[in-house]
Amino acid sequence: MDFNLSEEQTMFRDLFRDFAEKEIAKVAEHTDRSEEPPTELFKKAAAQGFFGAPIPENYGGVGIDWLPYTMLAEELGKHCVSTAITVAIHTSLSAMSILDVGTEEQKQKYLPPMASGEMIGAFALTEPDAGSDAGSLATIAEKVDGGYRLNGTKTWVSNGGIAGVFVVFAATDPSAQNKGITAFIVDADTDGITVGYREKTMGLRGLDIRTVYFDECFIPESNRLNGENAGWEIITRAFDRIRLTLAAVSLGAAEASLALGVTFAAERKQFGTQIANKQAIQNYVAEVAVDVEALRGLIRHAAWLADSKQDFTRAASIAKFFGARVAQNAANKMLQVHGGYGFSDEYAISRNYRDVRALRILGGTDEMQRFIVARGNFEEKGIKIQP
Ligand SMILES: Cc1cc2nc3c(=O)[nH]c(=O)nc-3n(C[C@H](O)[C@H](O)[C@H](O)COP(=O)(O)OP(=O)(O)OC[C@H]3O[C@@H](n4cnc5c(N)ncnc54)[C@H](O)[C@@H]3O)c2cc1C
Repeated sequence: MDFNLSEEQTMFRDLFRDFAEKEIAKVAEHTDRSEEPPTELFKKAAAQGFFGAPIPENYGGVGIDWLPYTMLAEELGKHCVSTAITVAIHTSLSAMSILDVGTEEQKQKYLPPMASGEMIGAFALTEPDAGSDAGSLATIAEKVDGGYRLNGTKTWVSNGGIAGVFVVFAATDPSAQNKGITAFIVDADTDGITVGYREKTMGLRGLDIRTVYFDECFIPESNRLNGENAGWEIITRAFDRIRLTLAAVSLGAAEASLALGVTFAAERKQFGTQIANKQAIQNYVAEVAVDVEALRGLIRHAAWLADSKQDFTRAASIAKFFGARVAQNAANKMLQVHGGYGFSDEYAISRNYRDVRALRILGGTDEMQRFIVARGNFEEKGIKIQP
């Protein structure tokens, strides 16, 4: 087993790191305070190919594998979790669903502008009464001449206000639950779409989260993604991808918290010496450092499974579940190292603390990841558990 990165992987990591340090770090605080997505930064990131990183070159992307893609998410997550998630939703959920099951015509039409960052993607699944239970959708797509008529409300749509395209899930056979869901590629300028105000949130204030309303929207048949009632397989595969990506964002966020805590502890003096000399502080640092390395191992393993075309559902859930906790614990412990300064908005650790909390919810909650992990254990005993 070789843990070394190849020359090409090292080159990609250095490119991502360099961009994040030079471009993202300087706008992250402003993004949080202004509560607006950093669109100028997105243009620069797009010019580097970040919005099309895993999209194949023949559709205008860079075509990188999972391992370097997780390193991109990690480096973005180190400096701005909102920006990292913006790119993750666009790429892992929206664009890669089209890549996964789209027709050649759909791929040719949507992937090049998505890869260049000219068209931002969103993924509209969650509804007011359908969160973890994503099979119980109330948004209906009714079959009409030449296509479908879409009616319903989608909540928590990340990138909702900046998206050029939505991948939308609707019931085409409501009584069949998850076997009656169909996906559609919906252009943002389709008649009948209303994008609500940005949600006020505890953190991730640069992530453009909206409620989106669909009122009698006509969607041509050519924009149905995959077969009728074949939306569930798109959702499950999209979840595998976003979970692995969010685990990598969590890794970056945890590393950032650790670096902030270590720097602070090396400078702050109490009782005549740097607090780094106090064992209580060293313990916090050591605990987070161990968690970070364990998480990196889980991500590398899941990325290896994905790159070698093996099933990575369980590995992604494990990494996502562990990663969200590592990111939260890291921010919490390193905030403690900062003492009162950590509670001040002037210090970056306070933003990290607020931002990482959402990682235990989006992409599937902690509880749903536990279910997926436990499902594998019970399967070995011949027991099929339900959420
Ligand atoms: C920052 C952010 C961004 C998001 N972006 C998007 C997006 O781009 N697109 C999108 O479609 N959605 C998005 N979401 C929505 C997200 O996917 C949902 O919030 C999530 O799936 C949970 O659904 P819910 O909030 O309705 O909670 P619920 O499903 O109502 O859950 C409430 C609580 O009950 C628990 N629970 C529910 N069912 C079970 C069960 N069977 N067993 C044990 N516990 C259970 C949950 O784990 C949770 O603790 C986003 C959410 C956030 C916070």
